[in-house]
Amino acid sequence: MKKYICTICGYIFESEEIKEDFICPMCNATKDKFNESEPIYDNLDSIIDSVLEDALSDKKSKIINDTLEDKKVRISDNNYCISRIVEKCINCGQCKNTCENKVNISYDLNKCKEPICIGCGQCILNCPTGALIPKYCYKDVKQIIDANEKIVVALISPAVRVAIGENFGLENGENAEGKLVAALKKVGFDYVFDTAFGADLTILEEVAEFASRLTNKKSFPQFTSCCPAWVKYAEIYHPELLDNLSSCKSPIGMQCAIIKSYFCEQKGFDPNKIVTVAITPCTAKKMEAREYTINIDYVMTCSELSILLKEENIKLESLIDEKFDSIMGESSGGGVMFGTTGGVCESVIRTLYRIMMKTNLKKDELVFTSLRNYDGIKTATINIGEYKLRVAVVHQLSNLEELLKNKEYKKYHFIEVMNCQGGCVGGGGQPLCPIKDLDKYREERSKGLFNIDKQRAKRCAHDNDELKKLYKNYLHQPLSEESFKLLHTTYSDKHYLLEDK
Ligand code: SF4
Ligand code: SF4
Repeated sequence: MKKYICTICGYIFESEEIKEDFICPMCNATKDKFNESEPIYDNLDSIIDSVLEDALSDKKSKIINDTLEDKKVRISDNNYCISRIVEKCINCGQCKNTCENKVNISYDLNKCKEPICIGCGQCILNCPTGALIPKYCYKDVKQIIDANEKIVVALISPAVRVAIGENFGLENGENAEGKLVAALKKVGFDYVFDTAFGADLTILEEVAEFASRLTNKKSFPQFTSCCPAWVKYAEIYHPELLDNLSSCKSPIGMQCAIIKSYFCEQKGFDPNKIVTVAITPCTAKKMEAREYTINIDYVMTCSELSILLKEENIKLESLIDEKFDSIMGESSGGGVMFGTTGGVCESVIRTLYRIMMKTNLKKDELVFTSLRNYDGIKTATINIGEYKLRVAVVHQLSNLEELLKNKEYKKYHFIEVMNCQGGCVGGGGQPLCPIKDLDKYREERSKGLFNIDKQRAKRCAHDNDELKKLYKNYLHQPLSEESFKLLHTTYSDKHYLLEDK
């Protein structure tokens, strides 16, 4: 076996030979960018030359000579989401810059026990040498599958289907949903479900909560809670907002709870035999699985899945499409749009309208164009019956802080917050792409999700037939006792983390 190393991102690949059509699963580099067997740190100069051209050319000489100041973002050994390969780090400071200025994390290490991290992995996307990676679990998952003692269930997040193709030569933004199902079955998963089903479920619960706030005149705005990085940020930096945060778990949190209850009941399975594996664009979900819920067993990012498929020699690009498994395989266009900025808000409006007006929005009224661009803060006023509802959509927490200034956010009834630029399409577990082209890649993935919405026969969460069955047979109605037990959560003030030394 020889070892090949990608000189663009540092991905290491073992094989007898490297084939002509080999594409790096981490950064899409072609075969000629791979070097044979030299340890990455011996080869550092050539790596620096190749990777810094785009991202850091003006700073290059400074970086190479500057060994004194530690510019890296701090990553604790206990971090559930992100690791650093120290030998590959060139101390360029891009990660810290992203963390402080985009994700808006600030703290004084002299006062904290651990570096503060909300797990979003934006540092991974902005690291020019591939020194930062998601904390991998794909080998553990494969071992469990191979042991053949458990029922292993995968669920695929919306944003993964429009990004993974980048690592396998598909068009940017192309919907690889059917191929992904086929690939996961080949890997050995017993069931493959659509997390967009969980997103539809989230919509029903979140809209019911919103309606109850309206009726009971509880505090507004209602903030979304599907992004665990934002939830953790709120707990640490804005505990005063926790009452305004929706009590809904994330779609993955909800769906894994339903897999271990309703699905097991329907199939006669022992929940202890089930292993849930969420395939996500998101590294923060790894933290959610460990800190916020008991039902998500593993979180495998899109980039990890790409590596697994390459290692298993599964050619995603040439697989014949397969369908998601039933019980939780159906999803609406609204559920799929959860993967892009504005998508949750648009889906909420569609279902809220249905609930309040007892009729669906007309086909040409389903799209809210003012919520579909990449502005940091987007707003709209929606007329539903007697109500004039003001909604806002924010991606990137630096933009959220703008909205929180001078209590500006109090003008709104509903606010969607996503940590990553573009929403989950820009998650830290997505395939790497050239840093200078990040915007372009994210926007193509978003377009891919909007196209899926357009093509879906059912575009509203409340029209999902499998979801209707779940309520009829098991949950009865949104916000029922069963729903509260399985699908909702509470939050805690974690401001103390900033001063817990
Ligand atoms: S961005 Fe990557 S190379 Fe630069 S300091 Fe951070 S970990 Fe090191
Ligand atoms: S925006 Fe999406 S990908 Fe990014 S941290 Fe939040 S849930 Fe994860």
